Amino acid sequence: MRGRLLGIAMCGSCLGTHQPDGLFDDACTAVAVDAGSRGFATLPMTWTRDEGLGAWVSAPVRVNVPDDVRGVSVTLDAGAARTAVLSATLDGRVVLDARQGLVLAARRSGRVTADSWFDTFFDTADTGVPEGFPGWNAAPFFHLPTVAATLQLPMNARSRPWGGCLDVTGVAVDDPGDAGTLRVAVQRRADDVGVLDLDVVVLEGADLTEDQLAQVLGVVDTVYASHDGPGLGTVQWFTMQGVDPRPRLRDLPGLRAVPIAGHTDGATLILVAAGFTGSPGTLGLAGGLPGPLGATTPASGVALNLGAHRDADYRLDVRLLGETLAHELGHQLGLFHTTEANGRSFDVHDDTPTCDVDLFDDDRDGTVSAEECVSRDGRNLMFWTAGDFAQDALSPGQVDVLVRSPATRRSP
Ligand SMILES: [Zn+2]
Repeated sequence: MRGRLLGIAMCGSCLGTHQPDGLFDDACTAVAVDAGSRGFATLPMTWTRDEGLGAWVSAPVRVNVPDDVRGVSVTLDAGAARTAVLSATLDGRVVLDARQGLVLAARRSGRVTADSWFDTFFDTADTGVPEGFPGWNAAPFFHLPTVAATLQLPMNARSRPWGGCLDVTGVAVDDPGDAGTLRVAVQRRADDVGVLDLDVVVLEGADLTEDQLAQVLGVVDTVYASHDGPGLGTVQWFTMQGVDPRPRLRDLPGLRAVPIAGHTDGATLILVAAGFTGSPGTLGLAGGLPGPLGATTPASGVALNLGAHRDADYRLDVRLLGETLAHELGHQLGLFHTTEANGRSFDVHDDTPTCDVDLFDDDRDGTVSAEECVSRDGRNLMFWTAGDFAQDALSPGQVDVLVRSPATRRSP
């Protein structure tokens, strides 16, 4: 069964894709970006249980991506069910294909349940995916099933999008029920770098003043602007009442999905908490990497932990909080850590320095600190952990991902 077709624009290039059935009913629906620099479309998804995979597979959903596209992201929103892109082609070229790896994982694990193949897949992730066809957990996406899973182009200089018919098939690890939409966000060519709109939602009792917020946003603006990254656009301030200002991490998805009256269309949510109960040292958390854009889902937006930014005298370190927000926004818009804690995993950019544990772990504790990596990427905004100095460096490749993200729009 096909997803219901909402648009009217036929996508000529769709005829070049290799769908086994129904060449002539495969219209690409139009993305609502006929005018302006950015647009969104929400398309229904229909799911069918696949006993062989132990999962639910969607009918293909097709969206027309304009030729002057700069960035595009798709989010598979099926409520609380974990989803992923199973396969995606753009103008007939494979963007991601996890089918073969999944079939292999399903065979090897015998009777498959949602959770068993999820684990098994990691053992077989390096097999079964043809060369040149990125599957799951592979560069440049490192895509995996998660709530409101999002796939984005570009993730680096080699994965910039092109125009044509974007053909997406999804998989749900948990029962999606009848729910499901594919949310598409597209940014088109613009003359300037654009701005990011933010909806700042402070949990009542979190104790952040407007003056402190202005300083924090000033840090974000300076970090991005000094590298020709996106500026800040419309920033709205909201207070969420009647919830614990110190949520547990597992409470965050529910808070992210709360609809906000007066929400700016396309704005990125910033949740501000007094603390994270059970995780007092976690500075902040992005909802996804990349996260859903312009949508209220359990993975939307960035959460900040004020308590982790206060000293013994309750003073708020606004510079660190600003860097945390800029860092988490970086994740939400598609940036990985330049170097992970183990000093063995690095991002997907060619122009970011890396900090190899074998060369820079001076105290031999198995992790690389910002101080140990100061001559490499210790000062990069996307280093994995905070340091005793400013971390505001960004490479041109990293900035390119930020400015192409559909989270940014052309400023008026
Ligand atoms: Zn991070």
